[in-house]
Amino acid sequence: LFVALEGGEGAGKSTQSALLVKWLEEQGQQVLLTREPGATDLGKTLRQIVLDPATGDISHRAEALLYAADKAEHVDAVIWPALKTGAVVITDRYVDSALAYQGSGRDLDLADVERVNRWATDDLRPNLTILLDLPPKSGLGRFEERDRIEAQSADFHERVRAAFLELAAAEPQHYLVLDASLEREQLALQIQARLLPILPK
Ligand code: C5P
Repeated sequence: LFVALEGGEGAGKSTQSALLVKWLEEQGQQVLLTREPGATDLGKTLRQIVLDPATGDISHRAEALLYAADKAEHVDAVIWPALKTGAVVITDRYVDSALAYQGSGRDLDLADVERVNRWATDDLRPNLTILLDLPPKSGLGRFEERDRIEAQSADFHERVRAAFLELAAAEPQHYLVLDASLEREQLALQIQARLLPILPK
């Protein structure tokens, strides 16, 4: 079972993924929690490049390819091997982040970003994507120091949010959209209720 957590900055993805791992382990599941960018050695280097404010402005296509390279390594070296052992794999960000940030955020052609990312991920798609939706103002308020992407304009982050919601609306059966301003325990319970029927036996 492959689950992706998506959402804008400060929506609480790390908190919810930690709570989810704990619950899955209590259900007797073997679990792997991972994230992108930066889950592999190559990914850590790429993450440093894309998020360091010192990188400055780079070509939007170059940026999209750096994130895609992180994904290719992530899928081949981490996600596929874990899924093959029967583990439940939870990833903090996946292809929807690329479509939202590099597609809508950077205004690249969505079909191009999608094609590159399908190839990068060997067309591996999550069984479920949990979208933690929050107005960017609330999320970004949590950070004092911003990385190169967090430092983008309010308009950029609004486009990202709208893109996530559109992706979810297009394929509702593959998404659980949650209001990330709710209490963390309440969010965790909603996630558990959605996952319980589809857990591996
Ligand atoms: O989830 P986390 O905060 O660790 O993400 C790292 C940064 O990378 C965030 O600023 C996020 O907006 C950015 N990002 C991006 N495009 C992606 C994935 C992440 O701009 N495809």
